[in-house]
Amino acid sequence: MKILISDAFDPSLPAKLEAFGEITDDKEQVADVDVVLVRSKTKCTRDYIDQAKKLRLIIRGGVGLDNIDVDYARSKGIQVFNTAEASAVAVAELAFALMIAVPTRLVEGHMGMKEREWLKKQLKRTELMGKTLGLIGAGNIGTELARRAIAFGMRVIAYDPLLKSHECVDLVSLEELFAQADYLSLHVPLTDQTRGMINTETMAQMKDGVVIINTARGGCVNEEDMVEALKSERVRAYATDVWYSDPPDASCPLYDAPNVLMTPHLGASSRENMLRIGDVVVRILEDFDQQTA
Ligand code: NAD
Repeated sequence: MKILISDAFDPSLPAKLEAFGEITDDKEQVADVDVVLVRSKTKCTRDYIDQAKKLRLIIRGGVGLDNIDVDYARSKGIQVFNTAEASAVAVAELAFALMIAVPTRLVEGHMGMKEREWLKKQLKRTELMGKTLGLIGAGNIGTELARRAIAFGMRVIAYDPLLKSHECVDLVSLEELFAQADYLSLHVPLTDQTRGMINTETMAQMKDGVVIINTARGGCVNEEDMVEALKSERVRAYATDVWYSDPPDASCPLYDAPNVLMTPHLGASSRENMLRIGDVVVRILEDFDQQTA
């Protein structure tokens, strides 16, 4: 079997895959490979799949399959998998870091020190303990964040219409979540239902001064509406790891908005996660190898 590693995986991965056959990272060889491993950069569109004439398996290292035309691939008999659960801890830790950085005034304090400014009096802090965290989406990542928030003394509620019960959070309606959440964190896939779901109308239903954290997808939040909500202080802060495009266009209005905390799509990028993703890739290949033996 010939395997194309098309995007950046942990450097230890090629050696782990040698047992399965020939490994290449030369994208020009796409027409000649049985398996392609992608993360976010490679887009497995119809054209790409048409070029890959021998392709039998696509593995996406990560959550979601947004960059793969899954229906078209499957119509051609190509199996498609992701490594859905591997990234939950990595993303939840980043979401928690973004959340706690806001009330602790971490970034402003640090930036002040860099400018030799002693902002002790100016930087008023608040605590997470006793506050309500509202999750939109309580799957793998939402659940890992909930566990961490509960350990910090937060009350956690979630809106997830596809769940009937949850191990550690109270499931509520979206209206209840908007009315109660001091912190609101997004953990949904980008779908027709979630695209632009945080907008002027929905933010008007939230508590004044809510903090919104987005490690899901940039498109779940209407950026122009968010900037207006930040300027009016309706929303106290928007902490985001995700963007309309990676990297965002230079004209992205969030760059110059007040009270924004930004990271460059780092959610899944921990060293431990890259190793876990590699282990799941190996397991998928073992199953595939057995099926096709
Ligand atoms: P998951 O499938 O385990 O959980 C998603 C949850 O969202 C499910 O429980 C589902 O029922 C719920 N859901 C679906 N549609 C909904 C809706 N309209 N309203 C409310 N809930 C809804 O996925 P996960 O592993 O927790 O990942 C969540 C998302 O995080 C991914 O889809 C991806 O967009 C994003 N993500 C980001 C990074 C990053 O680097 N920042 C990394 C991995 C995943």
